[in-house]
This record gives sequence, C-alpha cells and structure tokens, in this order.
Amino acid sequence: MNLSEIHYPHNLQELTLLLEHERNVQIIAGGTTFGYVQASRYLSFEPSIAYIRHIPELISIHKTERMISFGAACTLSELEHVYPFEQGQAKELMHTIGTSAVRNIATIGGHLMYGKRFLTLWALLACLDAELEFKAILKTSTKNIWYLADERGVPAIGSGNLLTRIRIPLQSIDHLFIKRVGGSMFPEGDGAYLVSAATVDRRSIANFKLVVAGARAYRDYDAEQRIISSPYPLPARILQNALRMYAESLRKSNFWNVELLLPLISQALENLQRSNT
Ligand SMILES: Cc1cc2nc3c(=O)[nH]c(=O)nc-3n(C[C@H](O)[C@H](O)[C@H](O)COP(=O)(O)OP(=O)(O)OC[C@H]3O[C@@H](n4cnc5c(N)ncnc54)[C@H](O)[C@@H]3O)c2cc1C
Repeated sequence: MNLSEIHYPHNLQELTLLLEHERNVQIIAGGTTFGYVQASRYLSFEPSIAYIRHIPELISIHKTERMISFGAACTLSELEHVYPFEQGQAKELMHTIGTSAVRNIATIGGHLMYGKRFLTLWALLACLDAELEFKAILKTSTKNIWYLADERGVPAIGSGNLLTRIRIPLQSIDHLFIKRVGGSMFPEGDGAYLVSAATVDRRSIANFKLVVAGARAYRDYDAEQRIISSPYPLPARILQNALRMYAESLRKSNFWNVELLLPLISQALENLQRSNT
C-alpha cells in the first residue's frame, strides 16, 4: 500500500507553492470521481494530495455588469442560483446531474477537469463562451473553454493545470435549445448534449452557437458564421445551406452518429425560427 500526504492549503498562494515544489500532486475538490477513475480494483493515489475546497478564492462568486465569475471549487449546488443556472432549461440541465447529495459535493472545477469525457454542463458553457482561469506560481492565464479539447475534439487536460475561476459573459440569450442524446454521461457511456444558443437583434441573428459534447466535442464555426448576421427568421435557403455545412463537417470529422445528430441540429434551427426562451 502506498501512503499519500494530504495537504490542506488555506489560500491560493499556499496551493500554487505546493504545486510548484511537489511533483505529481493530485488535486481533490469534491472527490466524487475517484472511485471511477481508478485503473484497477485497488485504490492508488499520488504521493501528494491537495484538498482545495477550503481555499476562499476558489469558492467565491463575483458578478459585474458584464460577467459572472465563479471559483472552481464552488459546488454545483452553490451555482444553482446564479447565471446561467438560475432558471429555465439551464436549471433543469443542472438538476439532471446525479442527485442533490452529489451536487452538494461535486464542484464545477472537477466537472470541467474530469478528463475522461465532457460532462453535462460542458456544451452549455461552451455555447456561453466560458473562459477559464488557470494559475501557476508566477503566471495566470485565461483560456477559452475549448482549450480543454484537442483539434479532434477529444478531452485534453494537461496534468498540473490548476483551474481557479470560470468566467461567463452576461448576455441575453433569446433562444436556448438543449437536447440529450445517447446513454449515460458519467462515468463513461455514449451520452452527449447538443446545445444551441442564439441572440436576435432587430430582426437579424446577432449571435449563434451550436455545440455537441460527450466523448468528444464538436462545433462548426463556418456554419455558425453562415447563420450569424442573417435576417431573422432565417430564410429557408440559409437554413438549408447551414444544415448542409453541418452534415459535411460531421461526416468529415467522423463525429459520432451523424444520422442521429442532423435531425437534432435541424430541430435546433427550426426552434430558433419560432420560440423564445
Ligand atoms: C453518483 C454520481 C452521479 C453523477 N452523475 C452525473 C451526471 O449525470 N452527469 C454528469 O455530468 N456528471 C455526473 N457525475 C459526475 C460529477 O459531475 C463529477 O463527479 C463532479 O462534478 C466532479 O467534481 P469533484 O469536485 O468531485 O471533482 P474531483 O473528483 O475532486 O476531481 C475531478 C478531476 O478534476 C481535477 N480537478 C478538480 N478540481 C480541479 C481544479 N480546480 N483544477 C484542476 N484540476 C481539478 C481532479 O484532480 C480530478 O482529476 C456524477 C457523479 C456521481 C458521484
């Protein structure tokens, strides 16, 4: 049996110092994934473990006129009452994750840094342009959430990366479409979420994003650009054109089940034509 030393840093400085000086530190936030990511029946841990839920900077929530920023160690329950999870479909999506007991422990940082696949909230956060702040001892960097995916859309979580904050621009979303496809989302499985978000500005589409995330993550920037700035409601020609672009890029990237996804993308675009969130 190997023994690990457990550290309880009290602030970010202590934590970044620890990560700098020790090799192979295992970060634990809620700790809800550990039974699932072990390679064998026997539990094994890194020589050093850092428990981060006591760090005030990582459990604070700030809101300005333009964005909301939450610490990576906020639990999913703590986020239930803040944008974008405080109402409507985003709230329902949050409630699909485990049980309230799980959400009281599981953190948003652990959810995003899971690494084996993209979990339930990923596609929504990607549609909302979430930015992630990472910290090392002398360096703070901010990356778009797509930093967590490689060019094939596979999770690419670098070891030793400390996620400190998640920032989401406060924007008015006029149309939100969320659909689950496939089976389970956690710990493995073929489940995925398709999310699209659109903003309509004086009878034209000011913003549109569509993301699918599960075992891999997918987005077609060109198809989105085809839709953005188009008149609203979308003319049939542009709608068909965008659908053709999605079909091509899904096939080209060999992304999951194209025949299943295409009707859903079509549904997302039709939904954009009629309903408001
Ligand atoms: C019973 C059960 C049911 C579940 N059902 C669902 C479901 O339906 N849908 C779904 O999407 N998920 C589900 N989950 C998964 C859940 O979302 C994750 O387990 C949880 O969000 C992970 O958070 P955590 O704080 O426990 O992470 P931890 O287990 O502590 O950490 C997860 C990983 O992230 C790393 N990490 C954590 N925080 C940071 C950080 N700040 N910086 C860098 N790395 C970090 C850890 O080192 C570890 O590798 C379920 C979990 C359980 C236990």
